[in-house]
Amino acid sequence: MDGRRVAVVGAGAVGATAAHDLATRGDEVWLFDAGTVASGASGRAAGVCYDAFAEDVDAVVAERALARFRELDAEGGFDWSFTDHPYVWLAREGDGGRAEAIREQVPRMRAHGRRVDLLDGDALRAEFPALRADIEVAAVARDAGYADPGSYTRAMADRAVDAGVRLREGTPVALAAPANDGAETAATPRLRVGGESRAFDTVVVAAGAHTARLLGDAGLPVPVKPYRVQAAVTAATPLADRVPQLYDATGGYYCRPREDGLLVGDGTEPIERDPDDWREAADGWFLDDCADHLRDAVGTAPAVERAWAGLCTATPDGDPLLGERAPDVVVAAGWQGHGFMRAPALGERIARGIHDGDWCRPFDPARFDGDESFDIVEGMLVGE
Ligand SMILES: Cc1cc2nc3c(=O)[nH]c(=O)nc-3n(C[C@H](O)[C@H](O)[C@H](O)COP(=O)(O)OP(=O)(O)OC[C@H]3O[C@@H](n4cnc5c(N)ncnc54)[C@H](O)[C@@H]3O)c2cc1C
Repeated sequence: MDGRRVAVVGAGAVGATAAHDLATRGDEVWLFDAGTVASGASGRAAGVCYDAFAEDVDAVVAERALARFRELDAEGGFDWSFTDHPYVWLAREGDGGRAEAIREQVPRMRAHGRRVDLLDGDALRAEFPALRADIEVAAVARDAGYADPGSYTRAMADRAVDAGVRLREGTPVALAAPANDGAETAATPRLRVGGESRAFDTVVVAAGAHTARLLGDAGLPVPVKPYRVQAAVTAATPLADRVPQLYDATGGYYCRPREDGLLVGDGTEPIERDPDDWREAADGWFLDDCADHLRDAVGTAPAVERAWAGLCTATPDGDPLLGERAPDVVVAAGWQGHGFMRAPALGERIARGIHDGDWCRPFDPARFDGDESFDIVEGMLVGE
């Protein structure tokens, strides 16, 4: 059906893209954010993007996301850019388990058409001499790059507004519980906006760390848990021009060039956080770890200039929830720290799902009851 009245809750990278794509299909779209555009995880993310996934649905989504990042960059006209840059993940000597896992992942990714090379330490360092030695094995995703997630999200929200989306910042909304009075026709979803109750044909909940609370309060539980991660940016260093994007599976950290410095992250705490009560500043132990990680990666530790924390979302099986949780109530969350890199494709999928019923089946929220108990497992782990 065309010309639906759709509310998107959450103006992060996913919600802003979905709102834009729905509006360009002719829908009347409202985009609500409790704070400002990109005030959630999307304004705090590292911006690492790659297509190196071993499952077919993930590979397809990631490929489309990268292609769309590049299309948007080529179109120009807004303050945002995508930089092509390889993504490397590696295991150090003596870490046989992770080395084996990387060797096993690469052929599966290549089977899905991903341009991923398997290199030994010498071959990797021939390409990136700034990297410290003692690398056992590395995989290099050639189709990868980085972008500033906050800038992308603000640019996409601007495009959405240009396409007719009614953006309402500073507007926390609540979902009303679906009517359960035995009526044969499904109730229209309603949002409480300020003191008002408003009806929509479809509500998309892309509320990041608040997703489970928002849906749970409406009697629609979903197994999505917020967890805290941290990142830091260093002072300018000549090394910024000489490193790939890197995930050291043995050390459990990542880094990438960022402007003239390096961005480094780890600090994943497998603890469920209250999305309204968590520490936004980085911890001292994380800053100490960053110096160790940088020395591990490139043999020196440029001074950290800025550090912060943010909330990611986990699910029981590590796959996201993307689809209808109840009739005309769509959930889009649980990206396990990989939501930004897939946002351009996820927004498109939400529009396709709502209009054509074409959802990614492996991400169907109906695979869960919502009351599952599970441990938070960080999204980048290799071989555990
Ligand atoms: C430090 C860090 C590094 C990361 N690095 C990467 C990376 O390199 N690559 C990558 O792909 N991903 C990365 N991520 C993950 C990425 O940030 C997220 O997966 C992605 O931004 C999620 O986008 P989203 O639109 O789903 O949610 P969010 O950006 O969290 O947006 C949700 C929005 O919903 C709003 N909201 C919540 N409740 C309500 C309500 N009741 N009413 C109205 N609005 C509401 C919030 O204000 C928020 O703006 C990182 C995350 C962090 C914290």
